[in-house]
Amino acid sequence: MNQDDKIYVAGHNGMVGSAILRKLKAEGFHNLELKSSQELDLRDQNAVRDFFDDVRPDYVFLAAAKVGGILANDTHRAEFLYDNLSIQNNVIHSSYLSKVKKLLFLGSSCIYPKECPQPMKEDYLLTGKLEPTNEPYAIAKIAGIKMCDSYRDQYGCNFISVMPSNLYGPNDNYDLKSSHVLPALIRKFHESKSAGQNKVTVWGSGNPLREFLHVDDLATACMFLMKNYNERNFINVGSGEEISIRDLANLIADIVGHQATIEFDSTKPDGTLRKIMSNERINALGWEAKISLREGIEIAYKEYLDHHNQEIVP
Ligand code: GDP
Repeated sequence: MNQDDKIYVAGHNGMVGSAILRKLKAEGFHNLELKSSQELDLRDQNAVRDFFDDVRPDYVFLAAAKVGGILANDTHRAEFLYDNLSIQNNVIHSSYLSKVKKLLFLGSSCIYPKECPQPMKEDYLLTGKLEPTNEPYAIAKIAGIKMCDSYRDQYGCNFISVMPSNLYGPNDNYDLKSSHVLPALIRKFHESKSAGQNKVTVWGSGNPLREFLHVDDLATACMFLMKNYNERNFINVGSGEEISIRDLANLIADIVGHQATIEFDSTKPDGTLRKIMSNERINALGWEAKISLREGIEIAYKEYLDHHNQEIVP
């Protein structure tokens, strides 16, 4: 990658896309193509084709997707399938037609089977049934992986896929209905503290284990892989740090400074009980995460106080 290369970051206003953009700018890349979803609806095949014909990017980071937490995935099942399939079909196929030098497609650790052996190695894809709460999203992401590999096999395209664990960081979604657990708990503990209450509700049993990765670590991994990884098989990117939802709630309570009583809402789903990824392959290539969970949540809480606290109407 040269600093003058034309780079298109699809989804640059989202948490992942904006982290990649910060990293690109910090490394001196300046020929950046950016379109908001209002300017370019990536579900619109003709609009995407026209955009690629016109712009002809050299490199594409495909970070645009419809994303959300366990409840959003479970409720908006059709949208998670249709929107994600459309976005990735259009961007990947147009990248092929306009001879993009390299494309990086982003997925998620939910592609693995519900009962997957832990830690989850890349080879375990499609060895069992998926977790029902996010099956439509996972199916779309698996299709994206297969699309990148198939375009490489048939057309020789250098398209790679990257599967991160649960992400958090700047530009996260703090809406309690659609967010993931980590931003939701930051907001819940903060609002409980601000309101002088001593109770916080945490969904499910608190027992599921999750691996969290700060999005700035993911962005460094994406840059590293864009420069160094040219293979057909997707690659995991995780922190290697696993924590139960109960312990995560206690950690956030500590960082926010609010030791409220935690009530578990058993009417909400737990989802997969455990999903820690094997980072063996990416570690062997010479990359590892740098931001610890405590440090990352401290940064996220500060960012929440600076940017989100005022905007959110409870
Ligand atoms: P998942 O990793 O796809 O299951 O996505 P989430 O981040 O939405 O949920 C992870 C786990 O945290 C699940 O077991 C949820 O039930 C649990 N959880 C506890 N409290 C919350 C909450 O307030 N919001 C969300 N989204 N999940 C929560």
